[in-house]
Amino acid sequence: MMKVKAMKDKWGRDIDYLRLSLTDRCNLRCRYCMPEAVDSVGHDAVLRYEEILTVCRAALALGIDRFKITGGEPLVRKGALSFMAVLKALPGIRSVTLTTNGILLKKALPDLIRLGVDGINISLDTLDAGQYAALTGGGSLHTVVQALEAAAAENVNVKVNAVLLKETVPQLLALARLAQDLPVDVRFIELMPIGYGTSLPGLSADEALVRLKGAYPDLKETAERRGNGPASYYASAVLQGRIGFIAANTHAFCRTCNRLRLTSTGFLKPCLCYDDGVDLRALLRSGRPDTEIQALLQQALAEAIEDKPAKHCFAERKEISEHKTMNQIGG
Ligand code: SAM
Ligand code: SF4
Repeated sequence: MMKVKAMKDKWGRDIDYLRLSLTDRCNLRCRYCMPEAVDSVGHDAVLRYEEILTVCRAALALGIDRFKITGGEPLVRKGALSFMAVLKALPGIRSVTLTTNGILLKKALPDLIRLGVDGINISLDTLDAGQYAALTGGGSLHTVVQALEAAAAENVNVKVNAVLLKETVPQLLALARLAQDLPVDVRFIELMPIGYGTSLPGLSADEALVRLKGAYPDLKETAERRGNGPASYYASAVLQGRIGFIAANTHAFCRTCNRLRLTSTGFLKPCLCYDDGVDLRALLRSGRPDTEIQALLQQALAEAIEDKPAKHCFAERKEISEHKTMNQIGG
């Protein structure tokens, strides 16, 4: 099948990547994401898998061919792996990757490998078991590390994502060490002021880099593009994987933004920072003929691409109009 050329937004960025949130539910309660017992949306409000696939077909027709499965915790939704297998087999798909907290990953790994998952991001902010439990509302570090080791042993493309928090600064080197001991990339992500992200003090990517250079003096930026996103990567002769930084707040993170987001309730978001977007669920459930829905979805996606703002407004917090929490958005 001929590759469809990705659409450019009005800032000249190629938009070829869609994050798909399967659920707002989660089996953890990360303090910066969904710390409380929150009301989850009802099952009827959540897009059915066939509806998400209909959106994905429309996206593929516009050259969006890379998909990230996210949540909440995507692996808590029944049927997530079968859905991913169907998505992965759609004509024109370039990649299907998963972001997970890793709690249910070990059991899911054989199916993920069978369906040909193109990468797994595992969120892990500390390697101190007590701190992990406190940060995640009771998560078991051992379970996540076991899954991480199992995925790396199977040669899955694994990235560890660690949010940069003041309280986990003493863990920076232990986390980076994962890229020394295992063939995995470790990416440090600046805490974003979305949802509960304002409730904790974070650390800048530059501050983290200075500390890491103390342990890895030859750490040097590479021009490699190793994932879907706007991370910059650093290599060292002693590391098997790379150290990555996603400097959402302090660097020109938006210049290379290539993505749209679809929430589990079918809201299509052009930018993380703003509450603007389109309700695709209403369109999907409008009762129109399938061909008409497909054409309208493509039009809505094209408009979302056109409407992508040049950049987020994390620096001017009062302009942030997005009030959903990260588990509702999908990260
Ligand atoms: N539950 C899955 C997980 O934790 O990987 C997928 C969903 S989670 C919302 C996706 C990513 O968003 C995680 O890596 C998480 O650490 C990150 N995240 C959540 N809140 C954040 C915030 N305020 N700033 C930066 N990253 C955040
Ligand atoms: Fe759940 Fe992921 Fe949010 Fe943590 S970051 S509460 S694992 S959705």
